[in-house]
Amino acid sequence: MSSVPTATVSRLVTYLRILTQLEAQGVKKTSSEHLADEAQVSAFQVRKDLAYFGRFGTRGAGYTVPTLRRELRRILGLTRPWSAAIVGVGRLGEAILHYPNFSDYDFVLKGAFDIDPNKVGFELGGVKIDHIDELPRVVREKGIDIGFITVPQTAAQGAADALVRAGVRGILNFAPTIIDVPKEVHVEPVDFLAGLKRLSFYILNPQLREELV
Ligand code: NAD
Repeated sequence: MSSVPTATVSRLVTYLRILTQLEAQGVKKTSSEHLADEAQVSAFQVRKDLAYFGRFGTRGAGYTVPTLRRELRRILGLTRPWSAAIVGVGRLGEAILHYPNFSDYDFVLKGAFDIDPNKVGFELGGVKIDHIDELPRVVREKGIDIGFITVPQTAAQGAADALVRAGVRGILNFAPTIIDVPKEVHVEPVDFLAGLKRLSFYILNPQLREELV
């Protein structure tokens, strides 16, 4: 398969959320038009996004909700739980560790690391905080797949390097900086301040928003 646009992967996550709600309501069938309405995209876009991965519906009959939901979970790799660890247990790291609904998703927080002696050795949200030097051992022992970076910007690259050296292949980076990783590692930036700047642009320039295709 050739590459898939990042925006398509983001929309697949949205379609999955909609399908999960439909299934919870006992709805058995849906259509690209309905998914499009809910996701605020066009039906053409829904069909195009799904077409990267095969044929799912029947022309005229739409999609079977549980089947399409199962297929999207498979495509997104959500048929297994993922183990995650947090590097940096400050204001943001603590809030994530306390987030009650984490395990409702397909991700389990199993590790946390910091350098502050006042935090190391304690437990938060049922997760033990280890010193960052323990990262390779804990990642190996707990089978950590994903690292969250919630350290100050200046420590972010070092945290990423430690995660990559330990074998982690997915990083959710909350620090407002671009980190360098080898090409087999994927970094997802989470930058709400960047989101605010985009908001400011679109509030001032609503006519420049992309049209539905
Ligand atoms: P914070 O200062 O409260 O916490 C940072 C934590 O990282 C501290 O516990 C510190 O001891 C630890 N740390 C420092 N160096 C480390 C290292 N080398 N290894 C392991 N741990 C280390 O910061 P915060 O407010 O939680 O923000 C964390 C990151 O998230 C920052 O990059 C910040 O810009 C970003 N961010 C924060 C918020 C927020 O609302 N707090 C929002 C968006 C982004």
